[in-house]
Amino acid sequence: MASLCSPSPLLSCFACCPPIRPRNYDHLDHEAILKREFRANRLDYLRNGPMFRPIVGFSCWALGFLDEEGRRAGCLLHPSRNGGQDLRFLIDYGEKCARESCRAAKAFERLSAEVQDFWISLVGDFDSFLFSSRRTNPLFHILLWGPPVLERLHREAMDENWSVRELLRRRTFITDPAWNPIAHRFLFRLALESDAPKGHTCWVDETLCRILQDRIHNHSAARPPSREESAVFTHLLPFEGDLLDFLRLDLGWEFAGYGAVRQLEAVIMEMAGLLFRT
Ligand code: SF4
Ligand code: SF4
Repeated sequence: MASLCSPSPLLSCFACCPPIRPRNYDHLDHEAILKREFRANRLDYLRNGPMFRPIVGFSCWALGFLDEEGRRAGCLLHPSRNGGQDLRFLIDYGEKCARESCRAAKAFERLSAEVQDFWISLVGDFDSFLFSSRRTNPLFHILLWGPPVLERLHREAMDENWSVRELLRRRTFITDPAWNPIAHRFLFRLALESDAPKGHTCWVDETLCRILQDRIHNHSAARPPSREESAVFTHLLPFEGDLLDFLRLDLGWEFAGYGAVRQLEAVIMEMAGLLFRT
């Protein structure tokens, strides 16, 4: 199964290297300098081989071009480069490097191979700098919609014979910054899984989701429980992750009790059933 870090022989991501970076750092802002550095790191590695050397500042000596042409950049110490041997212990953040996995990468891992290929086709011609930039790589946003929504959208695209770009033209909510994929994927999952008419634009889905969101906000069961009423962090409760994210990020439920979530879930499912019925 492919990983978002290296989804094809031509694509690689190095956005989370090195692990300690300034906030909002983007490699694309320093492309010319980094390209020189990556070439030098590759040459040094090929000439002298691996050796123990800590990271200096925000620059890691093991981050270099993986090919002669300088198309792919990545970790020269990664097991995939060294016959399965992980050499990242040679820098002082090795364990942190091995643990690193962003939310988009975790969602990508849970997609089927066919669905992975579909979404990756959106950025198939990117080089490593474009692929590793959160500004230019739309997958860092799109993948946050999570497997249930992304698999459903892929199925729709296959049924309609749409390319991934055509799907994005028809379902504009996917990239619309007005929607927060983590907070709102629950609403869209309900809409997409329902029998509500889909049409050739996302007007119906979006309108229904807005109406559902408004109705939930106006319902008394959606009032955030107080700290005294509930001693548990909402994300720790045994419910679907997308529902808990909606409660936390849209409704502001930082803490919740099992009973309150169960009650609100029943209210929402009833509302969705009435609204999304054809
Ligand atoms: S930012 Fe995500 S996709 Fe990119 S290398 Fe890190 S974990 Fe992989
Ligand atoms: S050792 Fe490899 S994974 Fe860790 S920061 Fe350096 S290039 Fe990135």
